[in-house]
Amino acid sequence: MAFSIPALDTLIHELTGLPGIGEKTAQRLAFFILKSGKDYSERLRMALDAVQLQVHYCPQCFAFTDQELCRICSSVDRNKTQVCVVEEASDVIRIEAAGTFKGLYHVLQGTISPLDGVAPSDLRIHELVERIHDSQLDPVNPIREVILALDADLEGDTTSLYLARLLHPKNIKLTRIAHGVPFGSDIDYIDQRTLGRAMENRVEL
Ligand code: ZN
Repeated sequence: MAFSIPALDTLIHELTGLPGIGEKTAQRLAFFILKSGKDYSERLRMALDAVQLQVHYCPQCFAFTDQELCRICSSVDRNKTQVCVVEEASDVIRIEAAGTFKGLYHVLQGTISPLDGVAPSDLRIHELVERIHDSQLDPVNPIREVILALDADLEGDTTSLYLARLLHPKNIKLTRIAHGVPFGSDIDYIDQRTLGRAMENRVEL
């Protein structure tokens, strides 16, 4: 439903572009923004500007960072021989909160999904292969294990199988988190203990 007030309709339209926000929620948010006054809108605008200006993908793991390399990739305390492959940057935060994994990450930025038109070339898979290849030239810290921590659904399974085939000849240990992650579940919604245990009980592929 349009309000025939172009500025308001435009704001509602932009808000419906956010994931999980339907028309009704977008209207509620737009009214909230309007009622909150100019100061709030200014802070919101500055916050939006700041993330766009300061936050970018880490060139190594493709998580978000405001540094040249992200905090995890540049840490000297992390085990550089283990790389955990996840779907989204938010998964890194979830696994970090579980606290059991001390290696590095690689964010695919999605999963293979023919139905949604997502092909392997749309993901950071090429970068993962290059990263493994480059690391094997490093005599001290070559990547020895790749842990797949993808969602336990059709797209996660498809992507894991694709990666397993692709990485098998690379002479690295390939594991996938398994126990404790129910089928069809999104790793965003699993409690920290379950996720911690799933990471410890990973299986070799
Ligand atoms: Zn990084």
